Amino acid sequence: MTGVAGTPPPRGRRVLLRGGLLMTLDEELGQLRGDLLIVDGKIHAVGSRIEDREAETVDASTFLVLPGFVDAHRHTWQTPLRHTGADWDLGRIFIELFAKFGPHYRPEDVFAAALLGRLAALDGGVTTLLDWSHIQNTPDHADEAVRGLREAGGRSIFAHGQPATDAKRWMAESTLPHPSDIRRVREKLLTTDEGLITMAMAARGPEFSTMDVVEHDIRLARELGLQVTIHIGLGNNGPKYRGIERMHQRGLLGPDLTFVHCCTSGDHELKLLADSGSTASVSAQIAMACRGFGVPATGRLLAHGVRPSLSVDSEMAASGDMFAEMRAALGMERAILNNTLQERPAHGAITALDVLRFATLEGARAVGLGARIGSLTPGKSADLILIRADALNLAPIADPVGAVVLGGHAGNIEAVFVEGAPVKWGGKLIAADAGKALQLAEQSREYLGKAVAKSAGT
Ligand SMILES: [Zn+2]
Repeated sequence: MTGVAGTPPPRGRRVLLRGGLLMTLDEELGQLRGDLLIVDGKIHAVGSRIEDREAETVDASTFLVLPGFVDAHRHTWQTPLRHTGADWDLGRIFIELFAKFGPHYRPEDVFAAALLGRLAALDGGVTTLLDWSHIQNTPDHADEAVRGLREAGGRSIFAHGQPATDAKRWMAESTLPHPSDIRRVREKLLTTDEGLITMAMAARGPEFSTMDVVEHDIRLARELGLQVTIHIGLGNNGPKYRGIERMHQRGLLGPDLTFVHCCTSGDHELKLLADSGSTASVSAQIAMACRGFGVPATGRLLAHGVRPSLSVDSEMAASGDMFAEMRAALGMERAILNNTLQERPAHGAITALDVLRFATLEGARAVGLGARIGSLTPGKSADLILIRADALNLAPIADPVGAVVLGGHAGNIEAVFVEGAPVKWGGKLIAADAGKALQLAEQSREYLGKAVAKSAGT
């Protein structure tokens, strides 16, 4: 197999990717074999042949070149608890997270989790990740989450949430407003919407707090200029609280909101979501794996004109790999259609290209960065990935979209660029010290296990 040659071009260098198969996901450019020029961290030009004497040329002829993936909702703080919930239902996951482990998290555990979780995502081509951080036990937890994301590299949105302590008060029809520390984080730590680390609010929404709290929290986010992401349509809570409908009644819906899951939200609610311009994110792997979620809402969202983003949600019960997430979303939707023996549905059968768009373009839109990332469009940031077209599990490639969606995995990614600078090169992460990240996460996991055992008196 052919790798990228030479040392990685340093940040700020003009780079010419020569002769790659450019899967731009740009409506006008489509797919072409050609060159892509990076200048000042941005995609400067895309074309069949570009000449630039000053640029460092990278032979991309054996690679598929794609925009980096965008994960619109992942809880990196759960990284030390990876894959422990393989056979659990949603109720058990909640107990483990918010009754057992969450209260014991120290700021350094949140740092270790963010560092490893973000780094692993970057290794898998996730150039942008929204870190849904409902582990805000103290202000130090917020600071350490942000530090972990920053040290890992990549583009991240820190979504400030509630503490993982005292779940009864914070998560069961809670009358507590969003923690006021969000204001400090916005005014002191993440003050700008530019740069690689930006901010959002991870609000509990109507399935975990009262409508007065929902209204308060959304108005606070809007005052602070933050997008809001909300879990909705989670199992029995969907029909019980009719969250989207009640938010509509209060006039709270809008394009600055992302609704995560929507599994059991009513069809009329999905229409309200669509009409308001809000976005949605589907976490198909975890919704399929854990009893209690309901069925991934991909097809129902499409039927109402909402093109969802994709998200891993939690590595407790899902792979962190966006290729796996794409396959789950595609497979689930096809299974639903097969099972009902439907004729071709009104919104059209879901395609591999659809889910690739969900994992890139729609993710970018959901996190409020649609104008900046999500496709290989000149003027956008050079956040992109190189996939080995001659990999044993992919070649020969007759249908590049099919190859990426059905056959791809993180190990096929040769290089990852964020803002024009390589963070993975020659198949190896260069953004941060992966060994350190693994060691810290191991130590954190050990501490958390002991702390939980001690408090249980075992
Ligand atoms: Zn979630």
